[in-house]
Amino acid sequence: MLEAKGLVTVEDLLAYAPFRYEDRTNVKTIAQLAPGEMATVIAEVKSARLAGFRKRNLGLFEAIFTDSSHQQLMGKWFHGGYLADRFTPGLRVALYGKVELDSYTGDLLIMHPEFEILSADDSEGEAALHTGRIVPIYEAAGKITTRVFRGLVHHILRSIEPLLDPLPTAIRERLKLPDRWTAIQALHFPESGSDVRLLNAFRSPAQWRLIFEEFFWLECGLSLKRAKARVQAGIAFELNDRVRERIKAMLPFKPTGAQKRVLKEIAEDMQAPHPMSRLLQGDVGSGKTLVAAEAAVIAIENGYQVAVLAPTEILAGQHFINFKNMFQKAGYVVVLLTGSATPREKAQLKKLMAAGLVHIGIGTHALIEEDVEWKNLGLAIVDEQHRFGVMQRLQLVSKAKNPDVLVMTATPIPRTLALTIYGDLDISVIDEMPPGRKPIQTKHVTEDEVERVYSFLKKQVMLGRQAYVVYPVIEESEVQAVKAAQQMHRHLSEIVFPDIRVGLLHGRLKTEEKETVMDEFRRGEVKILVSTTVIEVGVDVANATVMVIEQAERFGLAQLHQLRGRVGRGAEQSYCILVTSRLNDAGRERIRTMVDSNDGFYIAEMDLKLRGPGEFFGTKQSGLPALRIGNIIRDQDLLEIARSEAQAFITNPPSQEELRRAVSYIQQHWQRRYGLVQVG
Ligand code: ADP
Ligand code: MG
Repeated sequence: MLEAKGLVTVEDLLAYAPFRYEDRTNVKTIAQLAPGEMATVIAEVKSARLAGFRKRNLGLFEAIFTDSSHQQLMGKWFHGGYLADRFTPGLRVALYGKVELDSYTGDLLIMHPEFEILSADDSEGEAALHTGRIVPIYEAAGKITTRVFRGLVHHILRSIEPLLDPLPTAIRERLKLPDRWTAIQALHFPESGSDVRLLNAFRSPAQWRLIFEEFFWLECGLSLKRAKARVQAGIAFELNDRVRERIKAMLPFKPTGAQKRVLKEIAEDMQAPHPMSRLLQGDVGSGKTLVAAEAAVIAIENGYQVAVLAPTEILAGQHFINFKNMFQKAGYVVVLLTGSATPREKAQLKKLMAAGLVHIGIGTHALIEEDVEWKNLGLAIVDEQHRFGVMQRLQLVSKAKNPDVLVMTATPIPRTLALTIYGDLDISVIDEMPPGRKPIQTKHVTEDEVERVYSFLKKQVMLGRQAYVVYPVIEESEVQAVKAAQQMHRHLSEIVFPDIRVGLLHGRLKTEEKETVMDEFRRGEVKILVSTTVIEVGVDVANATVMVIEQAERFGLAQLHQLRGRVGRGAEQSYCILVTSRLNDAGRERIRTMVDSNDGFYIAEMDLKLRGPGEFFGTKQSGLPALRIGNIIRDQDLLEIARSEAQAFITNPPSQEELRRAVSYIQQHWQRRYGLVQVG
């Protein structure tokens, strides 16, 4: 059972941090209890029963306890049916909670007390472990309860030699950190008088130190790994005046300051004789494609090929059109390779790419299939990388010898977090929108107000604008969403807007059909596009000013923001209308966040908070291992500190001896947990 929790060694167990603490120092006999106080009582079950509650059976479980003071205390639990088998008379328990007076009977009462069953053979010493102090509460592992954990850890702490402290002394002294052994002891059994609120906020000195330590080694590992990647041989692209001229000639508009800055960062990487691994973060609509195109020119003018990987056919198709337009004058050959091409077409395209006759190959997953070969791939670009896993990126990169890699995402997260999560990537950020954009107005309406939404749509179309109406994929079934979209398409085109052209787009359409309807929408012939989330990423039609998202409560925040980003791309005022049915708390929070903010950084952070890092990134997203005590969201401040300490330590170690020790410590202790942090 411990192993299933990843607890294999004694060290693992010592690192298994309590998730909560309870102040059970105030242990009283029942006779000493006063209503209104928080107290702990050790008592025996005298009797217990499952009672009905008025007419409704809420499974109210009541137990009466007594102790050496011969007084009685009542405990009540709603929905307590599960306790009935356990609370047999004579059972010894520790109860903790707020003491009240029962208004009917005048008995002393604790509603929903925290409790812990003490075994009959607990010696006095053992019992003292579970009460009369600030006690740690551990997450159970199978049948291993918090109480068993407490006993195990206590036993270990008494049986082994104090652990040596692997943290470099200078850092420990400067940051005034307690040594490791002291910290581990205080983590599990805080000294009496410790501040329980601080403990429950994970900010006691012991916790602080252990979180710092975990982050410190992680960041050291990442830093060493990067340093190793940096010295790998790669392509040193040349950026001379001729190339600069080419870039200028290609640009359809004047780049923003932010675009210029990130291009400079990218160009510097490309000129260096080592492979670039850079993440370009920028909110939806910030103009990442333009920067990617500029980087592509550098590669091509140096005689190399460029690959552009996109998650959906529609986005790949759109990049294809954009790049072709931008590069027509330059005479570059741009091709599109997606899953829907016929085998013959595919074979032909692949032949051209392998022969080096293609300058830019754009595609979906088809682009990373095994038989795709390049003559001279120099730059690999991955758009909307949050849709891909690390493996897919590596697959693309494996098609050449150490090409430069640029990955782009519209789900921007704070810098230190990004550097940690995408451990092997450098980060550039576009933090400025192209000029002339008006912030999108976001409104929330309920289903029964949808008629108003339709009349608004009609008005916008009369003004010459266009709109999207999007349906979610329900319960992972694309078929359902397609059906909903088809139905709505019929309803809107036949009944609501008989005089307006309404198009339909979903993943089940044939490629030509998709292309046709996208083209018609781009040309402004189709005014309203009913769609599933296939348009979620990348699609760029500046004249579209309204995004209606049906059943918006079913979408995650990042997805909502991506969808909203389909509008607000031109000079006209744009709108996003979120249509929902009944909302739960989480749904309401998401909708409110959307209505309140247009800022992708803020929204990504809220998303992270609401969903937690695990779900936000998915396991395939990053090489980030499960942390034991640190939490990259809760402990962002500490992550920053640990990161800068780690970097200072690695680049400028107090001595080669200390650095060697640290490297070998990471290898020994962290390789097992942090497979991707291969160092040394
Ligand atoms: P994203 O970062 O979401 O991929 P895009 O690259 O699709 O954004 O750009 C969004 C829109 O902004 C596109 O229509 C693009 O042509 C336009 N755009 C990009 N850069 C500029 C700029 N410097 N000035 C004006 N418009 C720009
Ligand atoms: Mg894009």
